[in-house]
Amino acid sequence: MIANRWNEAEAQAFLTAAGPDPRARDLALRVLTSRLIGRDPDLVMHGGGNTSLKSTAVDVFGEVVEVLHIKGSGWDLETIEAKGLPAVRMAPLMRLRDLATLSDEAMVNVQRLNLLDPAAPNPSVETLLHAWIPHKVVDHTHATAFLVLANLPEVEAATRELFGDRLTLVPYVMPGFALAKAAADAFDRNPEAEGLLLVNHGHFAWGPDARSSYDRIVQHTNLVEAWLADRRPAPLVPAAALPADQLALVLSTLRGALASVLPEAAHLPVLDLRAGEAERAFSTRADLEDLATRGVATPDHVIRTKAEPLVLRTAQQGAEAMRAAVAAYADRYRAYFDTHAPHADEPKKMLSPMPGLVWLEGAGIVGVGATAAAARIAGDIGCQSARVRADAEAVGSFRPIGAKDLFDMEYWSLEQAKLGSGKAPPLQGRVVLVTGGAGAIGLASARAFAAQGATLFLVDRPGEALDKALAALGQDHGAYGCDITAPGAAAAAVAACAARFGGLDILLSNAGAAVTGDIATLDNKVLRDSFELNFFAHLAFAQAAIAQFRAQAAGRGARGAEPGQILFNVSKQAVNPGKGFAAYGLPKATTFFLLRQLALELGAEGFRVNGINADRIRSGLLSSDMIAARSAARGVDEATYMAGNLLRAEVEARHVAEAFVMLARAERTTGHVMTVDGGNIEAALR
Ligand SMILES: [Zn+2]
Repeated sequence: MIANRWNEAEAQAFLTAAGPDPRARDLALRVLTSRLIGRDPDLVMHGGGNTSLKSTAVDVFGEVVEVLHIKGSGWDLETIEAKGLPAVRMAPLMRLRDLATLSDEAMVNVQRLNLLDPAAPNPSVETLLHAWIPHKVVDHTHATAFLVLANLPEVEAATRELFGDRLTLVPYVMPGFALAKAAADAFDRNPEAEGLLLVNHGHFAWGPDARSSYDRIVQHTNLVEAWLADRRPAPLVPAAALPADQLALVLSTLRGALASVLPEAAHLPVLDLRAGEAERAFSTRADLEDLATRGVATPDHVIRTKAEPLVLRTAQQGAEAMRAAVAAYADRYRAYFDTHAPHADEPKKMLSPMPGLVWLEGAGIVGVGATAAAARIAGDIGCQSARVRADAEAVGSFRPIGAKDLFDMEYWSLEQAKLGSGKAPPLQGRVVLVTGGAGAIGLASARAFAAQGATLFLVDRPGEALDKALAALGQDHGAYGCDITAPGAAAAAVAACAARFGGLDILLSNAGAAVTGDIATLDNKVLRDSFELNFFAHLAFAQAAIAQFRAQAAGRGARGAEPGQILFNVSKQAVNPGKGFAAYGLPKATTFFLLRQLALELGAEGFRVNGINADRIRSGLLSSDMIAARSAARGVDEATYMAGNLLRAEVEARHVAEAFVMLARAERTTGHVMTVDGGNIEAALR
């Protein structure tokens, strides 16, 4: 059931902030209930739905004009503000109803022209529909329960049974001028109604004020939800979840297989697996292949997920079978494009033929996207639409719009605009795992990679530092807490990364700690422990990463532009021993050798291996106490000590981070160690 989230105290706070002007007060409550709707993913998701308020405004001449505040494109209801509900002059919008037709471009133009603030965002494509419903407040959702009802073949009878005349049905028309006309005509036939059911699309309700319209949205939705709940069969029992290591390899293989229909230079997509009980249960249904071909629950989902999910049964989860299934999917997509594109008003360019959703038998529902955010959105929509399909099949059947309407929507210029354009950042969608990701160099590197569009997965000891580091990067990155020297920890961390994002592109093996002691009397345990962290953990992460790289390559079937790479944080100790640093330098020298060995053995597969020798960076390795002690021992101040290099300039964590990014982007470089120490001839290589 949908909770009614209206809260009197919150409303009063909004009114207090708005002040005494009645227009400002109306708008404040309009913002509030827009957010209340936006907070519930079973009402709207990811920019779907829209809200409006009819009000007045004073123009530059001091004249009062009637306006429609309507959701601006690019705003999400959950976080909307008053400026996300720009005011459009009502009079011209009302006059448009006399026109027989209006092109999308002309509609967008006239809406923009009549904005009171020319800098405001574009008014929603459903602006005219809102304008022509003669109620002060109008709300539109794509509520999960309504998507079930709206896609039933017997939608009319079911709506009558549930609502009588309270909801008016509007047959499917693509959003835009024609839908607004159809909806306004439907309204006129039944002006006493409380709302509209847009067949194959969603729900509208209205009221004299923000609260009453919101109350109706909740009531109507819950009426449908209760009706569905009575008819819902007992949930399927999900299969046992796959073991993490197996799941990781399946996802990495899938990631490669999905990219097999992309150009060679394209990066692998990011995946977002939803493996909750409900998704795993859904993924075992016998009728997945049939359900997959039916279409989307509401038209604008097609731009996020494509019309059809790819179904992969357990037997199809090997590399070759997956690639064949993805190729067959792409062939169907090309056929769909070739069938419908010639009938479009203007020439269309085919979008990527890669699926946006995968139903992976036994494992769950996988969102696919060029970025982690796009994969997350596809995953959210995929889970909702799975519930819609299951419920619709339980009460009748799921019969959404057909292929031609889907094509019109998928290739509609106004929808494509939602996805944005512009050049992708260079490391967009690359999944980068950083060990020691919460430390100074690790986090600086993570930020540097994220700034280039990469998706980060931080590995460090569990605790506040790791939580804070992840929070600093944001929700579309991941983290995993462990002691990286524990047996099996590296493989588990890499598997967790693959489970979260579908694989791994770049391992930044960074974690380390300096251990000091005189070599002549060095305790054996101290040295062996240092080897665990400063060498064996590097080796274990490299081995686990290589297994994922190979699974991705097997899925893709041919080498892509960047099949995988490893970056090591070595140390100047590997080539230029410091007194008392044997326990650190010995394993680092071994790691340096490991880098060259890996570069030699992995080159033929296209995997690159490089590293950085950094020195004298403020970090966990070189604390402020140590800096104080060392500068005192040399009889210089701290700044002079830190700038004790050829350039006479302190080297910071960000300089190391930038060098890692440079190596990651140096496509024909492998087996290379870059020195980042401000210049030190004794530590120079060769
Ligand atoms: Zn809509």
